[in-house]
Amino acid sequence: MTLKVFQCEQCGSTVFPARYLCFECGGAKWRERVAERGSVDEMTTVRRRVGAQEGGDVLIASVTTDAGPIVIARLERVVRAGDAVSLAIDEQNRVFALPVA
Ligand SMILES: [Zn+2]
Repeated sequence: MTLKVFQCEQCGSTVFPARYLCFECGGAKWRERVAERGSVDEMTTVRRRVGAQEGGDVLIASVTTDAGPIVIARLERVVRAGDAVSLAIDEQNRVFALPVA
């Protein structure tokens, strides 16, 4: 699914995840904006405990989306800071980043 972020109708700030009130201006009206692409800021590995249900380490990156907000996304392979990624979201609202070739 396409990742959507939320833009304040009053001041144009974009946020993710959704908030009730805009932290910039206090506005409460939002429009959705599609965030299909972004660039990687930082990457880290989350080590899972042995015996955890979904075993294995998880790669996580903070990604600045082309729509504005920074999102935390899972990665399938190692990327470098500054790499371009495409963004998607699954049914459990987990954000995924896929390197753009
Ligand atoms: Zn605002």
